[in-house]
Amino acid sequence: MSKKVRVRFAPSPTGGLHLGGVRTVLFNYLFAKKNGGDFIVRIEDTDQTRFVEGAEDYIFNTLEWCGLQPDESPKHGGPFAPYRQSERKASYRKYAEELVAKGLAYYAFDTAEELDTKRKEIANFQYSHSTRSLMKNSLTLSAHETTDLINNNTPYVIRVKLQSHEQIEFTDLIRGTVHFDTTQVDDKVLLKADGMPTYHLAVVVDDYAMQITHAFRGEEWLPSAPVHIFLWKHLFGLDNMPQWAHLPLILKPDGNGKLSKRDGDRLGFPVFAMDWTDPRTNEQTTGFKERGFLPEAFINMLAMLGWNSGSEQELFSLEELVNFFSLERVHKGGAKFDYEKAKWFNHEWIKKVDVDELRKMVEKLFAENNITTDDVEILDKVIALTKDRCTIINDFVQQAGYFFNAPETIDIAAIQPKWDEKKKAFFDALIQLWNDNF
Ligand code: GLU
Repeated sequence: MSKKVRVRFAPSPTGGLHLGGVRTVLFNYLFAKKNGGDFIVRIEDTDQTRFVEGAEDYIFNTLEWCGLQPDESPKHGGPFAPYRQSERKASYRKYAEELVAKGLAYYAFDTAEELDTKRKEIANFQYSHSTRSLMKNSLTLSAHETTDLINNNTPYVIRVKLQSHEQIEFTDLIRGTVHFDTTQVDDKVLLKADGMPTYHLAVVVDDYAMQITHAFRGEEWLPSAPVHIFLWKHLFGLDNMPQWAHLPLILKPDGNGKLSKRDGDRLGFPVFAMDWTDPRTNEQTTGFKERGFLPEAFINMLAMLGWNSGSEQELFSLEELVNFFSLERVHKGGAKFDYEKAKWFNHEWIKKVDVDELRKMVEKLFAENNITTDDVEILDKVIALTKDRCTIINDFVQQAGYFFNAPETIDIAAIQPKWDEKKKAFFDALIQLWNDNF
């Protein structure tokens, strides 16, 4: 019997969720649901220096807004709890020690100053097969010296010991065969001086512990894959390793490089799912939600960034995406982000969804803009009448607000060129009709 599909989204709580992050969630989710599997969210918070207050809540609020409900997570619980790596701290050390015992990792005692000195001495310094013999570690010290340092509580890290010229190969579900030569790869830290694992050790140990079968993540993680595969091979066996799928990058609108938050600021569109205020700097970033996007449109647009259905159809509900999703149709190359196309999706979805779904959003928008009505029946009629003209929710102020608040100013300049005798006669008759009937 084949194993139940289990995928994970494993964010580090370091800030708001970028388009690329939500697309990673989406592809994980679609693949899991398509295959009757489980979608797990694991919080990778072992780097305490990068921890940002509020980021974890933000992630769960975003998933909720998008309708991508996890089956297991720190919030939803599950059989493999805890799902926050900082709470699993005690489980990692033994694996790092196991690698030391097998001669595949070593203790390194170099202080920050010593590392700095080496960086100054050696251009492009990397702690690796070519430099480790110059450093203060259990490979250069005697067994006795090493034990003494550890017993005297000298801070140390455990580093993986990669050989040079080792060939590491794996099959990526999107890219096919990927090949690495370890010569360029450094001896990554696996366990830090405070006893916390680094991401590299924790991701492997937890994917194993949580029986993950497929791991979808951004292409930026591809350079880390050789270390992860090395760890899998020597700790748990390659047969147990999840199948990897590295998703293509989301590119700037002109295709020149990865889409960044700065591009959004520069070109005036959101790149985050929801508003995010960085608590350290108070810097605010707008989200698609607050810009007036519907979650259906946001998800639909993201799905098409890097995947296609193979047909002319472009509008898909989440349920349809689950049905149609296939890995064969995920592109290898980066996907250009196009804000105009994102707005097109939203316009189509505003037209498509029921008034019931829009009412709450329009009521909130109206309240923020001092447009008041307590007649739900009229409001529903107005929404139904005007929704085809709205590209984003916020357009309802302009397209529907005048039904409730008389305009304070009249844009004569816009009307004048279109004004003629026929229009005058029409409006005179309309005013007459109104006066006679109301
Ligand atoms: N914690 C990593 C991140 O922040 C996860 C990468 C992975 O999925 O392996 O994106």
